[in-house]
Amino acid sequence: MLEIKNLHVEIEGKEILKGVNLKLEKGKIHALMGPNGSGKSTLANVIMGHPKYTVTQGKILLNNEDITNASPDERAKKGLFLSFQYPSEISGITIMNFLRTALNNVKEKKMTVFEFQKFLKEKLKLLKIDESFAERYLNAGFSGGEKKKSEILQLAVLDPTIALLDETDSGLDIDALKTIAEGINNVMDKNKEILIITHYKRILEYIQPDTLSIMINGKIVMEGGKELVDQLEAKGYGWIENGV
Ligand code: ADP
Ligand code: MG
Repeated sequence: MLEIKNLHVEIEGKEILKGVNLKLEKGKIHALMGPNGSGKSTLANVIMGHPKYTVTQGKILLNNEDITNASPDERAKKGLFLSFQYPSEISGITIMNFLRTALNNVKEKKMTVFEFQKFLKEKLKLLKIDESFAERYLNAGFSGGEKKKSEILQLAVLDPTIALLDETDSGLDIDALKTIAEGINNVMDKNKEILIITHYKRILEYIQPDTLSIMINGKIVMEGGKELVDQLEAKGYGWIENGV
């Protein structure tokens, strides 16, 4: 279980997160919504241990172990995964090679090229992705939808216990959105915890969150169930902001 306690975070001397409390639970999908610039990506990056951010107060606990100061690599080995809002392009490395290296880095048991090819084939099939996709260079010349597909494939291959998905839905057309949502539902199981960060309600029609938190100006200002999604759609964030 991942627990964030009274987290305060600064970047270049400016406080971005101002006391965030959040709990992810086993087998549950938690959605995090909020206006642009509220601190959602900052939270995801800090949970993953991005060196750019400074934690000035509070804690990040993973199964009651304090990981606030752990390196990103240690966190990945403990089962944390972050999919980026803006994945970078790496040419010269195929998706297949990238995924095998990444997997062998986080798991105790190493896979040979042949073992991995077989394993990857199953994952591609599960996600309904064409096999040729794995031969392409990582994110090079990918459309928005293909970049997100590659992130979901990473999610399926690395099989993390805790997945943070930052705006996995942004820039997708409706068919791509459905494919991605289906992929996420496919990899979800009773041992996983998923945090879906999103600006729009759309993806939450295909992935049902158990809990929804709303972040405004570096704080979680409201937490509720699925019904809150509809309220947001109808009224926007204004009614919450004005009440804060
Ligand atoms: P969200 O993902 O909710 O849109 P972000 O976490 O990306 O929000 O950003 C939160 C705030 O932090 C914004 O006001 C943004 O301008 C600020 N911020 C993010 N990165 C930097 C940076 N490198 N330097 C200064 N401010 C930053
Ligand atoms: Mg963001």
